[in-house]
Amino acid sequence: MEGRTAAPGEFNLFEREEGIAEAAQRALASPALGDDCRAMLAPLLDGYRHLLRETRQLIRIADRRERDLNRLNRKLEALTRTLAYQAEHDPLTGALNKGALHARIGQLLAAGPFSLLIMDIDHFKKINDTFGHLAGDRVLAGLADRLQDMIGEGDALGRFGGEEFIVLSREGSLLKARMLAERLRRGVEAEPFEIDGTAPIPLTLSIGLALAESEASVDALLARADVALYVAKENGRNRVEVAG
Ligand code: GH3
Ligand code: MG
Ligand code: MG
Repeated sequence: MEGRTAAPGEFNLFEREEGIAEAAQRALASPALGDDCRAMLAPLLDGYRHLLRETRQLIRIADRRERDLNRLNRKLEALTRTLAYQAEHDPLTGALNKGALHARIGQLLAAGPFSLLIMDIDHFKKINDTFGHLAGDRVLAGLADRLQDMIGEGDALGRFGGEEFIVLSREGSLLKARMLAERLRRGVEAEPFEIDGTAPIPLTLSIGLALAESEASVDALLARADVALYVAKENGRNRVEVAG
């Protein structure tokens, strides 16, 4: 901001000070000024100009510090956003992690009816054994992407454990929640997963569905959905069972 001429209408911090220095300079040059006065004024003007230069330099330093602080502040904000994201999401799949899922289920329980789908990949161990753990990881990530694409905008996907995922849907009707679960199950079964370097990998899901109505706790709801998942496995896998 210093040392330059202000554009029309722009505020120049030193305009007045420059004016004073110029007036003093003119006075020094005036033949009307007595020698005694000139001898007193000259060092005063020197000192005043020195002071102006130092003030400008301080302002320049303060400007630089402010820019540095702003830059650091932007970095800190970005880092805070990254950390907040990482605190709630699973790094492999981008789905909500277990802690965030618990918190979300707690909020939903307080807000009214909703449905919870707990899904477990069938015979996933065999996929790891056949195609390798890395391919297994990619299948998990691909599955999460596919589920994310299939669920509604207000629904949430979380990774509950190794190869278990949860979908939280605001759907409060059992019929519609069941249709959603069937749609997800079929959508996974319909198309094998294309992973680089392997043959397409077919996948199926077993799903336990629980409608949350007057649940006492997050754990009670999860336990109910888990029993339904167990029944789905027992009844042959690649199916949806509803919690009683
Ligand atoms: P089921 O149909 O009964 O569910 O059989 P399953 O083989 O899927 O079940 P099991 O619990 O025996 O095996 C789950 C496997 O999931 C074992 C474990 O190595 C694998 N797994 C868990 N987390 C990960 C992961 O992050 N990456 C990979 N690649 N595999 C994982
Ligand atoms: Mg499992
Ligand atoms: Mg499994």
